[in-house]
Amino acid sequence: MKVHDILIVGAGLAGMRAALAAPSHLDVALLSKVHPVRSHSVAAQGGINAALGENDSWEAHAFDTTKGGLYLGDQDAIEAMCREAPGDILDLERMGVIFSRDEQGRIAQRPFGGAGFPRTCYAADRTGHAILHAMYEQLLKRQAFVYEEWYVTSLIVEEGVCRGVVAWDLLKGGLHAIGAKAVILATGGSGRVFLTSTNAVINTGDGMALAYRAGAPLEDMEFVQFHPTTLKDTGILITEGARGEGGYLLNTLGDRFMKAYAPEQMELATRSTVSLAIGQEITEGRGVDGCVLLDLRHLGRARILERLPQIRELAIEFAGVDPIESPIPVRPGAHYQMGGVRTTQWGETEMPGLYAAGECACVSVHGANRLGGNSLLETIVFGRRAGGRAADYLREVAPRAISDAALRSDEARVKRLLANKGTERAWQIRDELGKTMAFNLGLFRTQKSMTEAFEKVRELSERAPHVFVQDRGKVFNTDLIQALELQCLLEVAETIVAGALAREESRGSHYRSEFPRRDDANWLKHTLAYRTPVGPSLRYAPVTITRFPPK
Ligand SMILES: Cc1cc2nc3c(=O)[nH]c(=O)nc-3n(C[C@H](O)[C@H](O)[C@H](O)COP(=O)(O)OP(=O)(O)OC[C@H]3O[C@@H](n4cnc5c(N)ncnc54)[C@H](O)[C@@H]3O)c2cc1C
Repeated sequence: MKVHDILIVGAGLAGMRAALAAPSHLDVALLSKVHPVRSHSVAAQGGINAALGENDSWEAHAFDTTKGGLYLGDQDAIEAMCREAPGDILDLERMGVIFSRDEQGRIAQRPFGGAGFPRTCYAADRTGHAILHAMYEQLLKRQAFVYEEWYVTSLIVEEGVCRGVVAWDLLKGGLHAIGAKAVILATGGSGRVFLTSTNAVINTGDGMALAYRAGAPLEDMEFVQFHPTTLKDTGILITEGARGEGGYLLNTLGDRFMKAYAPEQMELATRSTVSLAIGQEITEGRGVDGCVLLDLRHLGRARILERLPQIRELAIEFAGVDPIESPIPVRPGAHYQMGGVRTTQWGETEMPGLYAAGECACVSVHGANRLGGNSLLETIVFGRRAGGRAADYLREVAPRAISDAALRSDEARVKRLLANKGTERAWQIRDELGKTMAFNLGLFRTQKSMTEAFEKVRELSERAPHVFVQDRGKVFNTDLIQALELQCLLEVAETIVAGALAREESRGSHYRSEFPRRDDANWLKHTLAYRTPVGPSLRYAPVTITRFPPK
């Protein structure tokens, strides 16, 4: 069996940054279910935060992040992220990322929601694309080994220590055990738990499910961010950068309704505030065909073409609207998982040998609501930190034979799936799950809606292992992969519902009609979900508070 020093599962920004952080003499491999530059990071639009401005400071960035997250983020981790952000942006620039510029030729920064200062660096509205490709070039230069189009089905855990993964080779078919002295999960988000989402179809929460099954806890999973502006019908993201550049939100009366909800910050209030406001406008009958309107016309043709070219293309192609001439119909949609595999600020999970970074991890810096531009930053800062810490850990690991028990067990699981008869297909259960979650755990949550969802998820989890896999072949069997992804989605969904049902307050993205207020006395604490045979077992952990007492 091949044994790498470090195996990184996921080749988006967090995975690539971790690989570049490990010293080059080590045997570091990346593994990804899609070609690295097709990872969801490539779709990031609006930008990445860092306090670069002369009158800005990392402390101000840390305060905005803490406050925006409704004080649920761990402030030591937030401080580390905001302090190190400017250095990381300069590193990215040295790697070749072409950031947009201001008139003086410095890296330009646009205002984003919940930020007291324009501190979001960007490359037009294709920031993720610019960073991911530049970093991929660095990996090519380093000749990093990539398992391209491999799908991880399990972690290999022996005596409580992570020693590698079991993975399916998509191109040729077949499962293989791959050993590693340290494994870093960088598998991204789980947006596809919801029917419509800004996330790519590959964002199925695999890494969270892998860690959870192996015994590591998931943290704060009930906090799922609904982005205020996603395109009607498809749920495609319309970046916050559109409002950052000066776009307005209008209801059917033509009013800029945000003045009733956040008179000072208006369209640039935090995402949870703007999403709830849009939800209320639509519920109270002031929407337009289930949406509100995002108006960019006053920005003018030249500015739209320069700063928001991709948004214009998406609106024309998917909604038949040219924002130069007409407002765009938008509504809130599932976007980002604030929770994830619980880690320290060095990416360490509770399991020796297992690290996590990026959206699949919960460090936690976003608390109950993430600020736009902080997620790309998180992937870079904590990807780098996890890569470095995993490399340090190698010194403690003694060489050891790895058993093939995990491989055999997954082989049996795949064999069972391929032998299923019946007619129910994975996509049908996936759709039912998506609808249940969107309907019952969307912007507004109630005891009744969540209890229904909980029962439904249970029922679907029982049906999922019996789905019919039509393609029995080995080469590029996406049918099989979807059946495996479905099991991950259900595992993740169950932790979201369990955490949300238990949390009897409203905070950030978690809004409960029966408990409309934030309750610091009882709920200023992290939810930890541990897997048991009868469902998630919840425990709680304190929030780290350093310089900003909750207000
Ligand atoms: C449309 C959109 C726009 C966004 N815009 C912004 C923005 O402007 N600013 C911002 O800060 N944030 C933004 N975000 C959020 C941000 O882009 C993501 O949180 C971040 O890019 C996630 O990076 P990652 O490296 O953690 O994961 P990803 O980039 O999602 O990569 C995950 C990797 O894991 C691999 N993988 C997953 N499961 C498996 C498995 N079982 N086996 C093998 N490989 C696996 C995938 O192949 C992939 O390589 C946006 C998100 C979306 C969806």
